[in-house]
Amino acid sequence: MNPFRFHNPTVLYYGKGQIEQHLAAEVTRYGKRVLLVYGGGSIKRNGLYDKVMGILTEAGVQVFELPGVEPNPRLTTVYRGIQICRYEQIDLILAVGGGSVIDCAKGIAMGAKFDGDIWDVYQRKAKANDALPLGAILTLSATGSEMNAGGVITNWETKEKLGGSAPPHTFPRFSFCDPENTFTVPRDQTVYGTCDMLAHCFEHYFHPTHNTPLQQRLIESVIATIIETAPKALENPTDYDARETLMYCSTMALNGMINMGVEGDWACHAIEHEISAIYDIPHGGGLAIVFPNWMDYVVDAGPERFAQLGTRVFGIDPAGKSVDELAREAIAEVRAFFRRIGAPQRLADYGIGDEHIERMAEQAVRFRKLGSFKKLDKEDVAEILRRCL
Ligand code: NAP
Ligand code: FE
Repeated sequence: MNPFRFHNPTVLYYGKGQIEQHLAAEVTRYGKRVLLVYGGGSIKRNGLYDKVMGILTEAGVQVFELPGVEPNPRLTTVYRGIQICRYEQIDLILAVGGGSVIDCAKGIAMGAKFDGDIWDVYQRKAKANDALPLGAILTLSATGSEMNAGGVITNWETKEKLGGSAPPHTFPRFSFCDPENTFTVPRDQTVYGTCDMLAHCFEHYFHPTHNTPLQQRLIESVIATIIETAPKALENPTDYDARETLMYCSTMALNGMINMGVEGDWACHAIEHEISAIYDIPHGGGLAIVFPNWMDYVVDAGPERFAQLGTRVFGIDPAGKSVDELAREAIAEVRAFFRRIGAPQRLADYGIGDEHIERMAEQAVRFRKLGSFKKLDKEDVAEILRRCL
């Protein structure tokens, strides 16, 4: 691993009853003027909104609201939130939802303290060095946004989807992760969340930096646990143990714990962002399509790591097989898992054709070549996208 400094300041509250016990104290630590950010209504339907409002009102908090955050949250919504924060002198932003809501809250938190257009930060033209405090109540296991500093925002006008952060300021100060709040996550979103957390593991697993045997096994164990658990959550959405395990996997996959001193690859995320920037498809669905095709494309750059995934995670018997054969079998297992849980297989599943491949490939490499396991230029990205069709 590379030399590293690790600092993750998010206070995690995991499990049942934590919101009732600790939310009021955590919120009022930062003040009494709170912007509640949430999505398209799932928290109103499942009762979480009422619960949170009850606790905040009881604690004497004045709540301002920003509802309607889109899946793949949009820059225009971030701008609306920034305006509210400035006008109402908000002390704390409380995001209640999935990754989209939390990411949007991060953009708002940065923007409220940023002198200029916050989009410049996502475009890497400027750096944000501060943010309003934000806290989160997670309702969907997927992104790890509840315990990391990054957030992804879509500029729908320019069809760009970009990540931005201002660590340590954009780490949620606290996050409440109660598996029961994910009981109502629909089947397709459970599938997408599973694909996303797996993808985060893969991004950390496939890269050229030497990571320690411990780190490799940590990642393998998160992958194996996701593969074992997701079908249980899909079969029984109110299986507490399965929802809890998935939630913990999603947090661990992207809170920095399994990738200390490792940059990772992140080409598949960058490619997926180009797809959803234009077609507005679910992030996890896009990743389920891109990842196996990326694996096929790059496997020769390091078949040993793929073979290791195959034998250790999928239990492939190595007897009499070459490294290349094992690597190919491992990729077949990844594909088979995505198929088994009902994830999309091809861009055609979303009605996407080849009309924007050149543009997506060009945009994907606009800052630099993608990836580290194998560096990808525009032509490589276009070829991977063609294989996804
Ligand atoms: P999401 O976009 O936040 O939510 C997807 C859908 O699930 C929404 O329609 C939402 O409905 C619904 N939903 C959420 N919780 C629910 C619940 N408990 N019951 C019923 N429905 C529920 O999904 P996500 O996968 O968590 O976030 C995706 C975004 O995060 C993408 O933009 C992706 O690029 C980004 N991302 C961020 C990171 C990071 O580290 N920050 C990492 C990977 C991806 P409502 O809107 O009605 O609530
Ligand atoms: Fe992701």
